[in-house]
Amino acid sequence: MQSLCWTFPSAPATIPPMRRTKIIATLGPASWDEPVLRELIAAGLDVARLNFSHGDRETHGRTLERVRRLAAEAGRPVAVLQDLGGSKLRTGKLVAGDFIELEAGERVVLVAGQATTEPGRIGVSHRAIVTETSPGQRIFLSDGRLELRIVERQGDELICAVIRGGQLGSRQGINIPGAILAAIPAVTDKDWADLEWGLEHGVDFVALSFVRSPDDILAVKQRIAAAGASVWVIAKIERPQALERIDEIVQAADGIMIARGDLGVELDAARVPLVQKELIRLANQHERPVITATQMLESMTESPRPTRAELSDVANAIFDGTDALMLSAETASGRFPVQALSMMADIAVAADEYIHEHPVEQRRDLFAPPDNVGEAIGRAAERITRELDIRAIFVADVDGSRSLAASKSRPSAQLLGLATDDRILRRMNLLWGVTPIKMPPIERGSKLLPLAEKLAVQRRLAQPGDWLVLLSGSPHTESGPTNALRLHQIGALHADDPT
Ligand code: PEP
Repeated sequence: MQSLCWTFPSAPATIPPMRRTKIIATLGPASWDEPVLRELIAAGLDVARLNFSHGDRETHGRTLERVRRLAAEAGRPVAVLQDLGGSKLRTGKLVAGDFIELEAGERVVLVAGQATTEPGRIGVSHRAIVTETSPGQRIFLSDGRLELRIVERQGDELICAVIRGGQLGSRQGINIPGAILAAIPAVTDKDWADLEWGLEHGVDFVALSFVRSPDDILAVKQRIAAAGASVWVIAKIERPQALERIDEIVQAADGIMIARGDLGVELDAARVPLVQKELIRLANQHERPVITATQMLESMTESPRPTRAELSDVANAIFDGTDALMLSAETASGRFPVQALSMMADIAVAADEYIHEHPVEQRRDLFAPPDNVGEAIGRAAERITRELDIRAIFVADVDGSRSLAASKSRPSAQLLGLATDDRILRRMNLLWGVTPIKMPPIERGSKLLPLAEKLAVQRRLAQPGDWLVLLSGSPHTESGPTNALRLHQIGALHADDPT
């Protein structure tokens, strides 16, 4: 073995800018047809989100099949995230027309148990909206655009004053800041049935809306385990109640989504940027992937160019430390789905390149002691590759957790996640900076280094004489924390190598 005092060759030519932050796009009528979906995949779609708050299972099934087929055609993994609707509160379906007009100062009645909405009488999805609220409380409709104040309750009806009026469409979201609504289950019967469908169809991630406590997540995980499946569960953080137990929720979940749409109505809107920073910090600290979601490029639903504020919002989420960015209406129903994804990818390349150029300033919490061995090794790999100008870190992975641990140290070197299982490769699509690579089943751990060498040279990340880092666990075929870091010089393999 060469001495570690060896002179390291000068760094090979600069790595071309590459995107490290992952992109999730919600599929819908604007994007689920084959030509647009194909373009989205070509533009860099990492995770396709199927939003079960809308659409039926049959339509989602066709979309999922198309994603799988077109991803295979393109030769790159694309993961599928099933977003369960959860206990979203909604107004009833309009009896006639596209909307009704609510005028500031007028009175309207919210009616529990009525599925429809008509002028003056608005059906609401859950009885608890009427029974677990009190006069004086504020009720927001349509993502906060309309505001009501409860005047009094009469049986199963709430008499409300319209504070901020406007047009109310069919089945609009209702938010009641501060309401507990304990009678409403976190996971509805529809969610359970949708989850069963998702597991049967092999979705890669399940997101749960309106999480209130770690138990909501644990219940979903239990159901997944009982079905013999292994799917990461993402907690959507959109209720103030979730913030009260956020530490436990982050630890119970496999990842979190900052669902800024509902969060921005349920909380004082001015606090959303602060909560975003705090949630990202917490997810990174607990080694969980984190998704920043909603209205990131909202103006691109109607315009081919984003606003300057949106450009900054996307870049700042990356500087905050998000793993993934999410597009919602921009790709589901907007006029420019492919342009929105390409724009997001361009912003991410520029922001990721900035992090690459300022590695130490941009890494978070690295001066706090690591929580576990895997994290300590990830940090060591980051430092070694940065100081020695090594361009590739290979991670021999089994379930995605070793790649996740390495990703959290935000190395400038490329992170290549090796796994035999396609489901795990797709899982890596949520992890900042991880490029998934399928490897053949390998009987002995000693075969990992020759494989990493070959891939590093093939991908022009190294040439003979250069070094690479290999992270693995022992035994290499079983999940568990990373417990081995190998610093290896290309071309220095010996038959008696002890690996
Ligand atoms: C959100 O509220 O920001 C969100 C992501 O959830 P949904 O799109 O399901 O409303």
